[in-house]
Amino acid sequence: MPPSRPTVTCSINTSSHTAFHTAHNNRMIYESHSHTPLCKHAQGTPTEYAAAAHRAGMPGITITCHNPMPDRFSVHVRMDPEQWDEYIRIVAQAAEEWRGKVDVRLGLEADYYPGHVDFVRKQIAENPLSYVIGSVHPQTPEYRRDFRTDDPLRDQITYFNMLADAAETGLFDCISHPDLIKNETPDDWQTERLLDTIARVLDRIAASNTAMELNTSGRYKKITEMNPFPQMLQMMHEREIPVVIGADAHVPDRVGEGYPEALALLQQAGYDEVLYFIDRQPQRVAISQALQYDWGK
Ligand SMILES: [Zn+2]
Ligand SMILES: [Zn+2]
Repeated sequence: MPPSRPTVTCSINTSSHTAFHTAHNNRMIYESHSHTPLCKHAQGTPTEYAAAAHRAGMPGITITCHNPMPDRFSVHVRMDPEQWDEYIRIVAQAAEEWRGKVDVRLGLEADYYPGHVDFVRKQIAENPLSYVIGSVHPQTPEYRRDFRTDDPLRDQITYFNMLADAAETGLFDCISHPDLIKNETPDDWQTERLLDTIARVLDRIAASNTAMELNTSGRYKKITEMNPFPQMLQMMHEREIPVVIGADAHVPDRVGEGYPEALALLQQAGYDEVLYFIDRQPQRVAISQALQYDWGK
């Protein structure tokens, strides 16, 4: 592990970060969702993602690549278990190269999947992660095999309930892109018939003290809007569920993309602050402050 300095990745010495936090808190947010080529469907090194964060005027970036899972579970879209050390090494290398300019952090996008929770719990406990995203990915072959039926509404309800199951494990700081299921059967996406389910799911997530993500990459999916949809953001706000913005960048140029629009969406939903995480601790930023920032894109 590199020595403890304010911009070191995966340092567990939080006291050494105090000066840095004072300098940046309440001014500007980190990119909280970005990938590496280790997941086999992203391009660019962590160093290049950090450079993109710098161009966007962001003080930090957390690299959150897709976690290794057991039994070759959707191995075609995530790093292999034996690549874990390489993951830590390339993020630490980026942290070193950008020290003093961009705070590069080791994070993880970990899948929630029934039967694999203990594996993920151990993985998170054993590693010095700054931020852990919990994801349900309904587009994987395993998910489709195990949960897809011929009834889209039933599948959508299954998915939303699984988000609450994920939050209730207590393993994750944030639940990602929390309406991704809409892109599985976009012709059968009618939010009105799901609102009761979503309300109950959000009650459970609020009680679990887990944040939720506003993911700007939804604009590139079949239903071209950020995840989740605006009314769901309102329902999250009614329950005081904090929100982390993430670009879910699979190429460096997407770092920070859509943040001003995401901040405006959150304001419309009633939010006045947004979070990111450092060393698993929430950092709060006033949306009014973040909107004043001179965004690089
Ligand atoms: Zn991905
Ligand atoms: Zn992601």
